Amino acid sequence: MTEPLVAESEVSATRDRRTAGPVCRFCGAVLQQTFVDLGMSPLCETYPAAGDLNHGETYYPLHVYVCGECFLVQLEEYESAENIFSDYAYFSSYSDFWLRHADNYCWKMQSRFGLGEQSFVVEVASNDGYLLQYFVQRGVPVLGIEPAANVAQVAVEKGVPTLVAFFGTRVAEDLQAEGRSADLIAANNVLAQVPDLNDFVEGIKILLKPEGVLTLEFPHLLQLIEHNEFDTIYHEHFSYFSLLTTIRILSAHGLNVFDVEELPSHGGSLRVFASRADSQSHPTEPAVARVLDNEHRAGLASLDGYGGFAQQVKRTKLALLEFLLKAAREGKHVAGYGAPGKSATLLHYCGIGKDMIEYTVDRSPYKQGRYLPGTHIPILHPDKIRETKPDYVIILPWNLQNEIMKQLEYIREWGGQFVVPIPETRIFP
Ligand SMILES: [Zn+2]
Repeated sequence: MTEPLVAESEVSATRDRRTAGPVCRFCGAVLQQTFVDLGMSPLCETYPAAGDLNHGETYYPLHVYVCGECFLVQLEEYESAENIFSDYAYFSSYSDFWLRHADNYCWKMQSRFGLGEQSFVVEVASNDGYLLQYFVQRGVPVLGIEPAANVAQVAVEKGVPTLVAFFGTRVAEDLQAEGRSADLIAANNVLAQVPDLNDFVEGIKILLKPEGVLTLEFPHLLQLIEHNEFDTIYHEHFSYFSLLTTIRILSAHGLNVFDVEELPSHGGSLRVFASRADSQSHPTEPAVARVLDNEHRAGLASLDGYGGFAQQVKRTKLALLEFLLKAAREGKHVAGYGAPGKSATLLHYCGIGKDMIEYTVDRSPYKQGRYLPGTHIPILHPDKIRETKPDYVIILPWNLQNEIMKQLEYIREWGGQFVVPIPETRIFP
């Protein structure tokens, strides 16, 4: 008899012990309701090099559930976060949009909360220091916490002190023991990637000064549904948040949401402001009730609001395939722009390969010369577009479409057109 591959104690905490069915990563209820099932897809931030192309790649299901108790939309953790994030390919600083966004954030937080030389700002998942560098420039002491050592190294080189670690209660307690508590904790675009939500949020509370502020940014589930952004669902994103669910999770750990802003990033994000529930310094702003009201009207406070998404996603797939098949039959050349994580979901779910998109390009030197996971569409330098003059350039990071169309304005010289696949296939002559 063969031994089980995994010792029982290591079996994923997101499975119910009796039924072996998946359970909610926040409240522990058994997950029974499918939000959307996008089939099988490889890990999206692992870009094979030429020498890896003959090796197999592991595909995992992209089956998304919605919890019937707390309405947290979530994927199971098929691959451990350690394996996904310890050698990560995403460097935020390759996007001008993100740099402007970060600079603007630092300026706003500094003026709103009066941060200065005596303050301490922590960013969780600080990436290559793209954000904290602007606090450093303004003389505010910072610490980045970033699990990917290769990415953290880049931050350190640009003068942003960075701890290589996964954030949670352990790291928070260590910092607290050193007498380091934060006036501001930024956790931007990380909450979705946290496998143990409760440990993460508890860690935030431990690290926060009594009057300190937490800001969270994440793609807003309401926008994901309304704008059909199904490709933002991938294995690296374990959870998808409404404000409703966020408030529930934070308040379970003694944190109170006092303000929220709606941002255009990632196809519509929320920036949520929270403080300790016992803090007196931060009265609740009317924006909180306004966003909650929108979510209630969209039905997100019951399972009804989650029901139609799967059909909508299927219609998008059919329309994109129709366009690509027609282009292929007419002998048109189609290139991609960008190699974002979300392209893996879009391409695998729609069944699109090298026969429909010849190559894609990316500004990140890390990705150039590598291949998209699974489909093995080659990732080349952006100059390739000028060289090969494709008829269509399909913009895979559609959330940056304005920036990209501006950069690639020149494709119009040879009659090239842009294609944006989400929320539905649109062609920009
Ligand atoms: Zn739940």
